[in-house]
Amino acid sequence: MRKPFVAGNWKENTDSRSSVELAKAVVAGSAGVAREKVTVAVIPPFVYLQAVVRAVSASGIAVGAQDVYFEPKGAFTGEISPGMLKDVGCTYVLCGHSERRHVIGETDALVGKKVTAAIGGGLLPILCVGELLEERDAGRTEQVVTRQLEAGLAGLNGEKMQAVTIAYEPVWAIGTGRTATPQQAQEVHAFIRGLLAEKYDKSVAEEIRLLYGGSVKGDNAADLMREEDVDGLLVGGASLKADEFVRIIQAAV
Ligand code: PEP
Repeated sequence: MRKPFVAGNWKENTDSRSSVELAKAVVAGSAGVAREKVTVAVIPPFVYLQAVVRAVSASGIAVGAQDVYFEPKGAFTGEISPGMLKDVGCTYVLCGHSERRHVIGETDALVGKKVTAAIGGGLLPILCVGELLEERDAGRTEQVVTRQLEAGLAGLNGEKMQAVTIAYEPVWAIGTGRTATPQQAQEVHAFIRGLLAEKYDKSVAEEIRLLYGGSVKGDNAADLMREEDVDGLLVGGASLKADEFVRIIQAAV
């Protein structure tokens, strides 16, 4: 049985006060939800990580970072290493979020290096994959997702795969209000699980959690979670409102 997983990506939002308020409101709102039934993570901007780690301490809510660099230290101005994230209390890290790929210009190969480095540094990477609208319209969704997975997981054996979560986030659904239908999400998730069974083995494929992301809200979370291969949700905009995020957490249980 895969434990449901709900993660809230705050992107470039909040400030020193509102990040802590939001974290505390999520803790309070979800206090009645058994942690053994659902993994919950909040993913604030780097500069608020420590404050948010303190705000959620003892709640069972994990904290993740939105990005990481693959070098452990050195002359890489502006970058943050896996060890630094671990040091401030992070458990998870997003790798290859679509905004990093398509706005900042990260390549598949760079994302792969980040995933490997994250695991090496004791973090649990959430590898994000997903196609652009024109790629979907051209019937290339599976090809794009395969390419991103091949590069993103390059060099990981079955054992290291235990640290990985994959988030399928169709780019056309992120921040657009246009959610993939549960069937569209299920189709791609089943494809990804099949691919992992081929690349590794059936047990790796069965154990890995596959999250859907793209305009998830309290109103559509339960329908998405009902799909067999949707094990959780990566939430952007709706994770900035504690009530809405808590509704999504409740829908995932
Ligand atoms: C995201 O940031 O990963 C995301 C899915 O955003 P939104 O929920 O706003 O579409």
